[in-house]
Amino acid sequence: MKLANPTFPAPLDAEKRRDVPPVICYSPESLPLPELAALQRARRAADKVGETVIKPREARCFHVAAGQFFRISSVEGPQVGDLNLWNAADLTEKFYSGKTRALHGTHLSTGDRMWSSFPTLRPMATIAEDTLDWYGFDPFGGAVHDVIGTRCDPYTHKLLAGGHYHHCCHSNLTRALAEETGLPLHEAELLVHDVLNVFMCTGFTRDTGQYFMKASPVRPGDYIEFFAEIDLLGGLSTCPGGDCSAEHSSDITACYPLLVEVFQPRTPPAGWASPGVNGYDRSHGL
Ligand SMILES: [Zn+2]
Repeated sequence: MKLANPTFPAPLDAEKRRDVPPVICYSPESLPLPELAALQRARRAADKVGETVIKPREARCFHVAAGQFFRISSVEGPQVGDLNLWNAADLTEKFYSGKTRALHGTHLSTGDRMWSSFPTLRPMATIAEDTLDWYGFDPFGGAVHDVIGTRCDPYTHKLLAGGHYHHCCHSNLTRALAEETGLPLHEAELLVHDVLNVFMCTGFTRDTGQYFMKASPVRPGDYIEFFAEIDLLGGLSTCPGGDCSAEHSSDITACYPLLVEVFQPRTPPAGWASPGVNGYDRSHGL
């Protein structure tokens, strides 16, 4: 956080330096765009092939094959979900929230991709539909579906509040991945990563740049739907913060289930092919 009373005096040309206009780091025009219309056409003729219900303050894993869609829905009450994605065939290829943020911005919606970690850096999933796309940015700078938070976890909770709370999203995802894969708990934990905060409403305060959350605008019936670009193992935790209006890392807030449904299109989206790994030669200059 920036000091309210800086140690060093501003130089004479401070305002001139501050007035330099920003440049977007990664121009969206340079990104290969998804064929969104083709995805949505394929989705219109698709059959439901799977369903997973995640109980409050728990997590579960689910499989989605490349070319299938998966939908995360609010079903009983406003609830935030913490989403992890892994390559189903190689769990070390996992969602990279930081690079996704750099490419698409702080909050995701229709047409944005969830990108994988180095060295593969490729789209794992494309957001095909988002019923909360109307929300945009509110007057506080808040928006929905962020890639700026991490995931609530017992280590930060211990650091700040003391005590051992076991139903943070980090622990929920760790238990779910261990159960799904048979990996020892502490090996599974190392594969859990920063999330897409599904339905969560967050931002940075305008004056101090601090991470904030506020009550999610999600209501039962709302959903976000993804197209799987590669074979995926997903993990979704129903955050103990519920709608994240007040706190997380406790059993105080009302929490609700989330529903994951998987859909198989009858024909693949026109022109779509599962993306290969990133083309960088990995010589790193040697
Ligand atoms: Zn959480």
